[in-house]
Amino acid sequence: MLSAVTDPRVPLRPAIAGLPAYVPGARVQVGAAAFKLSSNENPYPPLPSVVAAIVDGASDVNRYPDMHASELTAAVAASLGLEASSVVVGCGSVAVLGHVLTAVCGEGDDVVIPWRSFEAYPIAVALTGAAATRVPLAVDGRLDLVAMAAAIGPRTRAVLVCTPNNPTGPAVRAAELATFLAAVPPHVLVVLDEAYVEFVRDPEAPDALGLLAEFANVVVLRTFSKAYGLAGLRVGYALAEPGLAQGIRAATTPFSVSHLAQVAALASLAARGELLDRVDAIVAERVRMLAALRAQGWTVPDSQANFVWLPLGDHADAFAAAATRAGVLVRPFAGDGVRVSVGEPEANDLALEVAHDWLTSGR
Ligand SMILES: *Cc1c(COP(=O)(O)O)cnc(C)c1O
Repeated sequence: MLSAVTDPRVPLRPAIAGLPAYVPGARVQVGAAAFKLSSNENPYPPLPSVVAAIVDGASDVNRYPDMHASELTAAVAASLGLEASSVVVGCGSVAVLGHVLTAVCGEGDDVVIPWRSFEAYPIAVALTGAAATRVPLAVDGRLDLVAMAAAIGPRTRAVLVCTPNNPTGPAVRAAELATFLAAVPPHVLVVLDEAYVEFVRDPEAPDALGLLAEFANVVVLRTFSKAYGLAGLRVGYALAEPGLAQGIRAATTPFSVSHLAQVAALASLAARGELLDRVDAIVAERVRMLAALRAQGWTVPDSQANFVWLPLGDHADAFAAAATRAGVLVRPFAGDGVRVSVGEPEANDLALEVAHDWLTSGR
């Protein structure tokens, strides 16, 4: 536990003093048996080839890592059919988002974000000194791209598009995104946060790489944390046209991607087929969970990610407490709902049991 702190003698920037805290998903207590479905992690342990690369890389950690992660940047670019000049690797895509925003906005600027969405967004925006304009989601937990376009004003420097949206799950559709991009002024950055892109099976989902080629104001964020199972090592990246990518790179913390993270990400790209088979298995579990929840009587959005959303409103915390008692940790968002990550089948079964009991106990 952190002890209570008094105000520092040195005044903090107002943007820092007023920041909301990032609430991480609940962690399993030492010695307790519980499934962790609270942080959208990959339930599979790293592949032996990835562990071997990390072990091998350990003997080099007296040296600084490759500052710009050149080999990894080239491998990511090659895997996507892009030039390396369009790829910026960073210490998790949350950090990369911070660098993207730092590159384009500051005090007095505005960033349009969907809400409820990824809880790192308001913090990342506030850290730059800019203000976040929150646009409520439409029905079914979908982003309201029409309202988001309408929220763009003279001070808007960027719009964050989370697709699939964390924590509700739906992906935006190609057609609505095309209309949206046509309405956004070319000097306003559009960040497509595709942290869960590998889990998307909606045939109407957009082709972000195609949009990247077409729109110079589009940045795509992706990560090794979810589908590739490297959340603990922190590697993510931005894709953008080379001029913009250079600006993002300039805003990046030097040496921020560790050597172990670089070698693990490279080994993961080399084992992509095997890792994407695991993604298929997680998607199959997601489909099973959504169907089971609907059969129980829940109204749940069409998740395209590795989690499902229960719109519990004011009962979110009570549901999460019931889940914890049953041995499964989930992520409540007070007043809105509960996000349940798709984990190992036994964990998912337990979560479904809690959901079933919740409805049948008359709440
Ligand atoms: C998990 C997640 C990320 C990825 O974060 P990393 O810093 O790469 O671990 C980014 N965006 C969203 C919406 C996420 O849910």
